[in-house]
Amino acid sequence: MAPGDGIQIPSRLPLLLSHEGVLLPGSTVRFSVDSPRNMHLVSQRLLRGTSLKSTIIGVIPNTRDPEHDTDDLPTLHKIGTAGIAVQVVGSNWPKPHYTLLITGLCRFSVSSLLKERPFVLAEVEQLDKLEQYMTPATERTTVQDGELGELSHTFYQAAVQLLGMLDMSVPVVAKFRRLLDSLPRETLPDVVASMIRTSNKEKLQVLDAVTLEERFKKALSMLTKQIEGLKLLQKTRKSSPENEKRVLSVRKGGVLPGRQFNLEEEAEDEDGDDTAVLEKKVHGAKMPEAAFKVCLKELKRLKKMPQSMPEFSLTRNYLDLMVELPWSKSTKDCLDIQAARTLLDNDHYAMDKLKRRMLEYLAVRQLKTSLKGPILCFVGPPGVGKTSVGRSIARTLGREFHRISLGGVCDQSDIRGHRRTYVGSMPGRIINGLKTVAVNNPVFLLDEVDKLGKSLQGDPAAALLEVLDPEQNHSFTDHYLNVAFDLSQVLFIATANTTATIPPALLDRMEVLQVPGYTQEEKVEIAHRHLIPNQLEQHGLTPQQLHIPQDTTQNIISSYTREAGVRSLERKVGAICRAVAVKVAEGHRVPVTDASTAECPTQQRDQAAPPEMPIVIDSVALKDILGLPLFEMEVSERLTLPGVAVGLAWTPLGGEILFVEASRMEGEGNLTLTGQLGAVMKESAHLAISWLRANAKTYQLTNMAGGPDPLEGTDIHLHFPAGAVTKDGPSAGVTIVTCLASLFSGRLVRSDVAMTGEITLRGLVLPVGGIKDKVLAAHRAGVKCVILPQRNKKDLEELPANIRADLDLVTAANLDEVLNAAFDGGFPGTASTHTQPQLTSKL
Ligand code: ADP
Repeated sequence: MAPGDGIQIPSRLPLLLSHEGVLLPGSTVRFSVDSPRNMHLVSQRLLRGTSLKSTIIGVIPNTRDPEHDTDDLPTLHKIGTAGIAVQVVGSNWPKPHYTLLITGLCRFSVSSLLKERPFVLAEVEQLDKLEQYMTPATERTTVQDGELGELSHTFYQAAVQLLGMLDMSVPVVAKFRRLLDSLPRETLPDVVASMIRTSNKEKLQVLDAVTLEERFKKALSMLTKQIEGLKLLQKTRKSSPENEKRVLSVRKGGVLPGRQFNLEEEAEDEDGDDTAVLEKKVHGAKMPEAAFKVCLKELKRLKKMPQSMPEFSLTRNYLDLMVELPWSKSTKDCLDIQAARTLLDNDHYAMDKLKRRMLEYLAVRQLKTSLKGPILCFVGPPGVGKTSVGRSIARTLGREFHRISLGGVCDQSDIRGHRRTYVGSMPGRIINGLKTVAVNNPVFLLDEVDKLGKSLQGDPAAALLEVLDPEQNHSFTDHYLNVAFDLSQVLFIATANTTATIPPALLDRMEVLQVPGYTQEEKVEIAHRHLIPNQLEQHGLTPQQLHIPQDTTQNIISSYTREAGVRSLERKVGAICRAVAVKVAEGHRVPVTDASTAECPTQQRDQAAPPEMPIVIDSVALKDILGLPLFEMEVSERLTLPGVAVGLAWTPLGGEILFVEASRMEGEGNLTLTGQLGAVMKESAHLAISWLRANAKTYQLTNMAGGPDPLEGTDIHLHFPAGAVTKDGPSAGVTIVTCLASLFSGRLVRSDVAMTGEITLRGLVLPVGGIKDKVLAAHRAGVKCVILPQRNKKDLEELPANIRADLDLVTAANLDEVLNAAFDGGFPGTASTHTQPQLTSKL
């Protein structure tokens, strides 16, 4: 049947090799495309083309295995269907592929192949007329005469008979009915063959039937077979809508653009089981009424959706999450205070205050089980065990543990999720965490709440407030979930390095527990009780193979680490274990200066014998493994000139010692400050100079020429070395005064003294914070005497007894007392030069 001179398809068509379905003119079929040639066709032709013509492609059935597409081009089927690509959907999951929705237009035969790569392009000859779809059925001359007329009539009758056996209330059937009446008769074989249940082989026969007679005959036999089948079925079973679906649903079939109804049916057919399973899970998830209603609504929507619709997987994922969430699943708390105390003590050394508070919490919990979870916030330097205590608490309670790191989170949807309208939307970390632990009463550790960010995407702190506030969190609504989830049973523990940067509203809801740094002795204990055994185990070593004596541990702590916590100590122990592991594995020994092995010649011993166990790490072995000491007790060395004093600073990483240096030169009374100082520090410097000038006479301070005003004809430079770190805070006041007093008097500050305190213009010393961390830092640095504000005396009680015994702790109420204690033999002019012993209090 020649196309005549009606509407023509392009004579050169790119060909889509279809491995799975047969496209017939008049039907719309969805093709999944993932073989290289077809992918190229989509990306280089369909997606780049701008004209309507470029959306017309040929679909050629390819019966060969799709895996062989990259090899030579298979022999193509001789007839194909030209079609318009009406929709292209790309996806990367599970592998890159496209889904094409193609509506068949007419048959063509391949005249010659023009190219095979990157996609197949062929010269084609059109075989069907295109006009038949464009004129309404009534205006057309339909096939009526002779054998063809009879055939078409019989075919129509058979189709009507089939319809009569089906239930008209089923939408597919109703559509079939409408099409039957509205379409011209000559299109019926193609349309009906694509609608009724036929195999690909049968469809191929219809495609190959180029003449109308042949096509009618082929399609008629299929139609009759269908009717016979249905008759048989009806005899055995009462007709039900299911039967209609079964008769009409065609795999990957459809009729005319936009009429994809039987695709829907197919999705339902294939997915019916899955959806039923999901529905069962929804009923079994024991969720609250509101959530249950939402799920039922979504389920209803899901059932109506074709599987290929992008929204299908979104809804599916949503429902999957809803059924997985632990709405009413919880673990039973084991509340045995005695056992808890043992467990906490076994897991962690020291930390008495923290442990006491935790036991209090557990005790109250034992008495009143419905207690709402408090929000505890552990504040302290890194590596002091905040996270690991959190984990221990979960273990003590027998609860699940989940850590949520908040450092750098600056988008509130991280906490509260994205609304489902966004592409790639997902729940926030809280809901995700609940899904992971699968119970609704876990211990959630919110790590680093002090490092929350803020951005245009909303304030995560505000979202966190909703999570933490006991008044609100029983109905926490994640944007993705869009129904309330009860978080009131969750025990939240937050950790932070400092409270300064925690948003005040958040801080207000939390109970802050300070976890200060450790003393040298505590570190040694922690190392021997926990870190070394842990590291040995992690490296597959035993105490019989490696022994680290206490002296060595002390050496590591003082010469190789300078930290408030024990993290770097743990790493150093790890490094020793690794080095020893190599030796043990090789059968060689670490070059130790062990007395027992000293007699035997080193070379022989190294090459032959396995190492003598245990390998003892002494100072020589330590140097060998960790290299030269990283830190020295440097304080005394630097205090050899007038104009240097040691202050104590507090940072989120623990206490630190801080040098203050001053020098003077001829000038006009200018003050230069360097060392990355903040505004408060600069003010302290001005304050110090003013006070010294005002009291120059009393203290016999002079300028360079010996005059009574220290600033006259003199420029002063004050510097705070130690890294390019911004330093601020009022607590360096006394140090600056001491440093300048030393400069102006030409006397050396005592080399073993460090100090902290804020000053006033009248020379009073005001209290400052972080005393424990500061004193520990001074002790670490080898300082012998620490000068503190008198009003900080109460803080000294927190210090371990051995530190108090080691250090000379001087409390000063005014600068007079500070200067007196900072210089050997007191400071000239101070009121108490001769009554010095009264001021020093050795606590
Ligand atoms: P943080 O969360 O405070 O930064 P971590 O909890 O990560 O610190 O602790 C670092 C390491 O130090 C962990 O291996 C932990 O077990 C150990 N650790 C810290 N403090 C103690 C302690 N008091 N007793 C035993 N181990 C400790």
